[in-house]
Amino acid sequence: MSTLTALLSVSDKTGIVEFAQALHAQGIKLLSTGGTAKLLASAGLPVTEVSEITGFPEMLDGRVKTLHPRVHGGLLARRDVPEHMAALKEHGIGTIDLLIINLYPFAQATAKADCTLDDAIENIDIGGPAMLRAAAKNWQDVAVVIDPSDYPQVLAELKGQGLQRATKFKLAKKVFAHTAAYDGMITNYLTALEAGAEEKTAEVPVRAEYPDVFNLQLSKVQGMRYGENPHQSAAFYKEAKPVEGTLSQWTQIQGKELSFNNIADADAAWECVKAFDLPACVIVKHANPCGVAVGATLLEAYEKALKTDPTSAFGGIMAFNRPVDADVIEAINAHKQFVEVAMAPAFTPAARAAYAAKQNVRLLEVPLSKLSNPLDFKRESSANTLDFKRVGGGMLLQSADTIDIVGELKVVTKLQPTAQQLEDLRFAWTVARFVKSNAIVFCKDGMTFGVGAGQMSRLDSARIASIKAQAAGLSLAGTAVASDAFFPFRDGLDVVVDAGATCVIHPGGSMRDEEVIAAADERGIAMVLTGTRHFRH
Ligand code: 5GP
Repeated sequence: MSTLTALLSVSDKTGIVEFAQALHAQGIKLLSTGGTAKLLASAGLPVTEVSEITGFPEMLDGRVKTLHPRVHGGLLARRDVPEHMAALKEHGIGTIDLLIINLYPFAQATAKADCTLDDAIENIDIGGPAMLRAAAKNWQDVAVVIDPSDYPQVLAELKGQGLQRATKFKLAKKVFAHTAAYDGMITNYLTALEAGAEEKTAEVPVRAEYPDVFNLQLSKVQGMRYGENPHQSAAFYKEAKPVEGTLSQWTQIQGKELSFNNIADADAAWECVKAFDLPACVIVKHANPCGVAVGATLLEAYEKALKTDPTSAFGGIMAFNRPVDADVIEAINAHKQFVEVAMAPAFTPAARAAYAAKQNVRLLEVPLSKLSNPLDFKRESSANTLDFKRVGGGMLLQSADTIDIVGELKVVTKLQPTAQQLEDLRFAWTVARFVKSNAIVFCKDGMTFGVGAGQMSRLDSARIASIKAQAAGLSLAGTAVASDAFFPFRDGLDVVVDAGATCVIHPGGSMRDEEVIAAADERGIAMVLTGTRHFRH
């Protein structure tokens, strides 16, 4: 077999030396552009600069490096077409069989607050995409690698029976998705400038993320018998690249097939339970938590969570942030609580045995990523970076609501919250983030006492939360209340204080903040502002 040639030209040089070394060890000739060549040479690798084969120096500040027939001929010639090979021979052009590229970092450059239009333009790669497209077009003969996570597979195949057709096709498809995303990113950036949106706000560094949606590769996990309603068809897709700590990583260990609503509710429960450090239990119905609690043990957390709203909890979706043992399952059985789905990082063999008689209950084990959100009120969670919402004829895309509180909590009333109240407020605030807006959540001692969700007025959410607490036989005296957004008027505040709340947490920022704070002072409660709003629609 004749010697293979690889062309390496990368902006992000992470891992490139090791990869080139491995290619060299396979007897592959290395060809490279200026910066990459220099790095490889300094690592002791024999490398030919592209400028040596083109006979032209890199010029125009690197704008022209590889745009030459000796490069593109080597990439585009079909090895099975004699005329193509004859043309290469006639012009003394060698084939290029492997192309390893990553492009100028346009996204990183434009994400910087001080990026000018000129900076952005200089970060538009020209030769890179041209080579990528050439190689991907000629995918049967050229393997093109843009993603370092593909290095191991490429190497393994090179060491084995040679690059497989299916692999080369997969790599080529990735390229076109990548160049499309790259151009999409440039278009977005320039269009935003046109719209006068060039003034960047420091807090919203999301623009560079939008094009990621073009890169998003989804794979179908399962079709479903139906969607949200029986007359709707549905399927579940997950991102090809695993997103650590998310529900999508589940393993189902028993139970019926998951339905559309099961998965949607399970996701709500899982995202919420991840937010707690202490052993926690979250019970969800219709995408809202109807009971959330922490305790010294999961059993305690479960018993408390159930107390919030036992009526709604029937047929609920439950999530735990610790491995579940038999005691919790026995308690669920003792309460005769019908459960649609229970999920936890693990179920012990004894727990599984305790549920063995109820084979219909769906048990999911979901790895709890260390990164997923150990909440300390400053850290961000790492999972779920993008959030989508389908609208008629289009889609809304935003970065996920992963920030809990920006900055410090601010006490604005004469009365300071006690340490215990502060703990209750923080707990309530965490829960409120996972309740649909308008959200009002009463809590005490690491447990929800009343949850008002999804109302069109904050006042109604406040009323509903206290009605529900009464129905569950809970006293709201001395509770802490969280509101996902500011109180527009004092009326909502009065409702929660009338119900028994003695401290309140909310973002603040209303025109009438002063009036609302004065009302809190007048009612003799403590009020804390977070500065961060958590609408959830
Ligand atoms: P190096 O650091 O090796 O000098 O440059 C690597 C980068 O140059 C890669 O990101 C590659 O996509 C890009 N590149 C390669 N050829 C050309 C070209 O002809 N024009 C431009 N603008 N970029 C190129």
